[in-house]
Amino acid sequence: MDTKKYLEESSRYIMNTYNRYPIILRKGRGMKVWSSDGKEYLDFVGGVAVNILGHCHPRVVVAIQKQAQRLIHVSNYYHIEPQIKLARLLVENSFAEKVFFCNSGAEAIEAAIKLARKYAKENLSPERYEIITAENSFHGRTYAAVTATAQEKFHKGFEPLVPGFVYVPFNNINALENSINERTCAVLLEPIQGEGGVRVPDMDYLRRVREICNGNNILLILDEVQTGMGRTGKFFAHEHFGITPDIMTIAKGLGGGAPIGAMLATDRVASAFVPGNHASTFGGNPLVCAAGVATIETLLEDGFILDHCKRMGKYFIEKLQILKEKFPLLVKEIRGLGLLIGMELNADCARIVKTCMDKCVLINYTSGNVLRFIPPLIIQKKDIDHLVEVLEEIFLKM
Ligand SMILES: *Cc1c(COP(=O)(O)O)cnc(C)c1O
Repeated sequence: MDTKKYLEESSRYIMNTYNRYPIILRKGRGMKVWSSDGKEYLDFVGGVAVNILGHCHPRVVVAIQKQAQRLIHVSNYYHIEPQIKLARLLVENSFAEKVFFCNSGAEAIEAAIKLARKYAKENLSPERYEIITAENSFHGRTYAAVTATAQEKFHKGFEPLVPGFVYVPFNNINALENSINERTCAVLLEPIQGEGGVRVPDMDYLRRVREICNGNNILLILDEVQTGMGRTGKFFAHEHFGITPDIMTIAKGLGGGAPIGAMLATDRVASAFVPGNHASTFGGNPLVCAAGVATIETLLEDGFILDHCKRMGKYFIEKLQILKEKFPLLVKEIRGLGLLIGMELNADCARIVKTCMDKCVLINYTSGNVLRFIPPLIIQKKDIDHLVEVLEEIFLKM
């Protein structure tokens, strides 16, 4: 079947929830993907911050192949080795002491909200259920997750939302402090807002939030679904800010492309969950956990990839700064940490992204006018140089 026919069938049979570009991707290796009409693209989207080791990393491929031959799925009524191994790797390399596995970022957020409320009701007061989140945040599309997401455009048409959420401006410590009351149970934040336009808070913001949470017996939940798994040059972004949360959500990069999410917590908080409180049929199944183990082992080996991510992120931002100097009216600001980078423009990003695609480079934008670069962490300088050349060509013609 040819590409045109497939595209027709795609809109005939698949529900209309995505604005997709009219290409069909068939194959990927490292930084590259190939479409059905034989074009080769350089991929700076990386499955939206998912493919941290690039496409089809051999260690992830082999882990999935081996596991698929042995056991693909059993229920969580039984123990399985890959799930135990993955939990141990996460605990040994983070603040956390317990892990709950699920299938996506939104599900990890749902689990975090349920755990925080149950912990607060049982240990603090039955009237403690409110969760404070930040304007421009993004936490996913299921009902509690989308309610936690303080952006009207994601709420419209779906009301009534889940009760018990309070919104404050991000990176504003006074607003957060003033919104706390006797019903507050937790604060839920992204360490760096991803979908909200790559917003990096002041260096001391999260530390102050942590202090306020401690002072008021409030749980701190960090949503590291996008910032975690080495994206910012450390295993988890909160390590840059010298604090730890009580609960953390991860997903995107965790399975190296396999669909897996996790909610991590300290023993004290995790103990609020007992059998029967929460579950997921597929959560942490053998196949995705084997992919997760291979991904983390590769990512953390000798700290090589994390160091590489830091160096490439620095190089990337330097290159974009040079573009900013060349196009001061067009480029407003470059922001980011590691390989989570945003370039805010005074221009229509949709057109730039489309033109980039015509030139065989895949990039992404968010919040209307922020080009977002979230490439695989194995990216090379020559890839960055190529993107910057392509952007310069496009900017010159604007
Ligand atoms: C992508 C994302 C989510 C949602 O993850 P899904 O797997 O799409 O449900 C939640 N939080 C953050 C910070 C994200 O970037």
